[in-house]
Amino acid sequence: MQKKSMDALERTLRQASAAGAGFLGQDERRLAVILRADGGAVRRRGLTNARIARRLLALRQAGWEGLGEPVSAPPHCEVCVDAARGTLPCPFGDRGSFAKVNTTVRNLASGQKITFSDLNIHLIAAHGFYEGRGAQFRLDPEQLMDTLEMGTIKKHDGIH
Ligand SMILES: [Zn+2]
Repeated sequence: MQKKSMDALERTLRQASAAGAGFLGQDERRLAVILRADGGAVRRRGLTNARIARRLLALRQAGWEGLGEPVSAPPHCEVCVDAARGTLPCPFGDRGSFAKVNTTVRNLASGQKITFSDLNIHLIAAHGFYEGRGAQFRLDPEQLMDTLEMGTIKKHDGIH
């Protein structure tokens, strides 16, 4: 992350733009609280943001090969990639921008579905940020991990 202060960053993320209601949606929690809560959900499943981002990227690449047609992905998912013109900058102030490519993954066994953008993948990989509740591209980590059948749910922390 660059030198932007946490407060300035939070203001930027809350700002509505032509593209939608901002990255925090209606979430009134502080950015630090959102990051902590989502990070905790990921850790509880024995996962890391990096692993989740890598899986999302792999699905995006697999789906991309389908050129708009659905592609199968393990364990029993269907991936569809849809690209629009233009790019989006990272709101955290990183250099570079991200193609407006949206990947939709459907778990055919459970019926669950998630949609994520290339920017989402970067936000998770680089910032551990899944966006705020109510944001158009909020990716709830629990829902994400359930849909992709990732990680293990620990019943309790016993002796290893
Ligand atoms: Zn960034």
